[in-house]
Amino acid sequence: MDTSFKSLSIGDVEKLVVEAGLPKFRAGQILSWVYAKGARSYDEMTDLPKAMRAQFSEAYPLHNPTVIDKRVSRDKSRKYVLEFGDGALAETVGLPSSDGRLSVCVSSQSGCGMRCAFCATGHAGLTRNLLPGEIIDQIIHVQEDFGQRVTNVVVMGQGEPFANYDNTLAALRIANHPKLLNIGARHVTVSTCGLTEGIRRFAEEPEQFTLAVSLHAARQEVRDTIMPGVARQRLGELRSALKHYTDATGKRFSFEYALMKDVNDSMEDLDALVSYCKRLLCHVNIIPLNEIEDSPFKPVSRTVLETWCTRLEDAGVPATIRNSRGTDIAGACGQLASKHI
Ligand code: SAH
Repeated sequence: MDTSFKSLSIGDVEKLVVEAGLPKFRAGQILSWVYAKGARSYDEMTDLPKAMRAQFSEAYPLHNPTVIDKRVSRDKSRKYVLEFGDGALAETVGLPSSDGRLSVCVSSQSGCGMRCAFCATGHAGLTRNLLPGEIIDQIIHVQEDFGQRVTNVVVMGQGEPFANYDNTLAALRIANHPKLLNIGARHVTVSTCGLTEGIRRFAEEPEQFTLAVSLHAARQEVRDTIMPGVARQRLGELRSALKHYTDATGKRFSFEYALMKDVNDSMEDLDALVSYCKRLLCHVNIIPLNEIEDSPFKPVSRTVLETWCTRLEDAGVPATIRNSRGTDIAGACGQLASKHI
């Protein structure tokens, strides 16, 4: 049985190179060919011995995705649909800024199993976890298509990264490695719907990766309705895991709160959010809900968004409104469903 090269972490490649009786620097060469120079086959790796190339292409074949769709937004963001060898799809979005930064929103899974009621990805269900190299392929593709270095990564595409923890972290290490994609750890953000075991593990990681948590309700009964996939993880438990995270890392994380009309936008919801955030080293991103076809969930007015932001700030909780990009190409938060295929 062969093993896809894209399933391997940096440590795995080093280990198997040594096991094959080769000097360790060969691992760095292959990794650099694939993840720094974008090689698509072992034949391109001209500084590797022929026998080694043959051995690797047999045992660890390089599979490359096909880009089957690309859409460009009025705001210059671009959404791509990548198809992997087994037909699994993943969407990724490139978000350029006027100051020269280029952010990529990557998917960690093909589809998602969390069933958040307001999110189009959840409606389609989970196809499978993405491999580390498949997560990186998305970044490399955006980099090549824009002809520009990727500076920031957000794991906010399809899927729940902490339901695919090891592959996600292996990918982030490849992204962060100075000889590979060299993207600063502080410029890499992982967003979770609140899997507490993952948050606790993430607190122990040596890199300075950033954490975001999709909260969307600070009242248990409201959260259970709109985020049924995490209903077993109680809000109290989530708060303890986050407290542990900030104590262990000294780092601030952010909450994402998409306001939905008559669902999570009452004064009671706001009070619950304020008390939930008290004495937590956090920042709140208030998000205007992006509309999903056939969805009963509706956004609130700009005034409500601003009122929430002001009230949070007044209560000592840092808050900002996060404006959506790519809504015209269904590339914004919650709109990645690959259903136009
Ligand atoms: N599964 C992870 C990563 C996905 S990030 C997580 O839940 O955090 C995508 C973000 O978009 C999440 O915060 C998600 O809750 C949010 N989102 C989903 N549907 C949305 C919608 N219709 N409008 C705005 N944000 C939405």
